[in-house]
Amino acid sequence: MNIVGKDVRDNYYPRVTCDLGIVRRNTSEVMQRAESAGIEVAGVVKCVNGLPEVAKVLQDAGCRWIATSRMDQFIKMREAGITAPFMLIRVPMLSEVPEVIDLCDVSLNSDMLLLEALDAEACAKNKTHNVILMAEVGDLREGFWDRDELIDAARFTETARGLHLLGLGMNIGCYGSVAATKDKMQELVDAAELVEAAIGRRLEVLSGADTTAFPRVLDHTMPERINNMRLGEILVIGRDLQDLYDCPTPFLDRTAWHLQAEVLEVHRKPTHPIGELCTDAFGHKQVYTDRGIRKRALLGIGRLDYAFPEELIPTEPGIEVIGASSDHTIIDIEDCSRELKAGDIVEFEIRYTALLYLTDDSNVAIEYI
Ligand SMILES: *Cc1c(COP(=O)(O)O)cnc(C)c1O
Repeated sequence: MNIVGKDVRDNYYPRVTCDLGIVRRNTSEVMQRAESAGIEVAGVVKCVNGLPEVAKVLQDAGCRWIATSRMDQFIKMREAGITAPFMLIRVPMLSEVPEVIDLCDVSLNSDMLLLEALDAEACAKNKTHNVILMAEVGDLREGFWDRDELIDAARFTETARGLHLLGLGMNIGCYGSVAATKDKMQELVDAAELVEAAIGRRLEVLSGADTTAFPRVLDHTMPERINNMRLGEILVIGRDLQDLYDCPTPFLDRTAWHLQAEVLEVHRKPTHPIGELCTDAFGHKQVYTDRGIRKRALLGIGRLDYAFPEELIPTEPGIEVIGASSDHTIIDIEDCSRELKAGDIVEFEIRYTALLYLTDDSNVAIEYI
């Protein structure tokens, strides 16, 4: 067995397994569909903390950029031999401008102070840094809301010696839960046309959002001028559109990632706590359903590793996650046909947020199969 990056025993748990073959096939399915819609892809690896093994799959599949939100992940990927140009998709911090200029081919930007600092740093290093300006379209995270400010920023970038205005971008579905409708996507094209009128040339890249906008590619309603997408979840995990967005994706295999955890104890116990109830370990008042005496198991993994127990999906029938503290997960196994005992391994499929935590966790081994 090959547990990458960890010097651990073969029977070390908890463990995340990744089937890179599934990631490769899913990525290729998505890339084909993007390509026929005239869309090039920035492959986003922040959902797995920039694991180089995953970045390599996206690079080999032909992503124009490998993208993430944090500088330490770029450094780790370069050291591991990822050669694709890098796109920084969290608008930069003033304090990391030198690293952005050193490491990234392009960054998303939404603040004049940052543009000035990037220009100064690029000039000092005799470099040209590519900029995608973010237009706020209502999800209310990053981006210029005022279109005159957007145009001012575009004019500045256009004439700055150290910067190249590569294009415009928008983000959606992250904070404001705003849906990527055809009209919403068109707002990016409208903003681009304002900017193009102001600078007197056509922009090369219109970068329209993330996985949540991919349904517009599938139903052929993505505005034609949008020619770039920054895709992470749909390439690396492939669950969200089907599970959460009511968008069937039969061409994706949702089982690339699994979590394995070890059983610590098995007992039959009451399901409602006994005594006067205060708050749980996290200061929350909880509601417990009394289901009588049921068999349950305790696992050696907890919120410290994955944060959200509801993001774990047991692969075995008759197993249900009923709660967790920092280091323990409690599962109901009354209806499980396997006779679980201490030392046994229980397996889960994993959603986005849990994987985000699990792949950044020194306590969790990662095995590629
Ligand atoms: C996270 C992120 C993406 C990718 O999101 P997925 O849902 O993983 O496809 C794209 N753009 C920006 C700005 C992001 O922050």
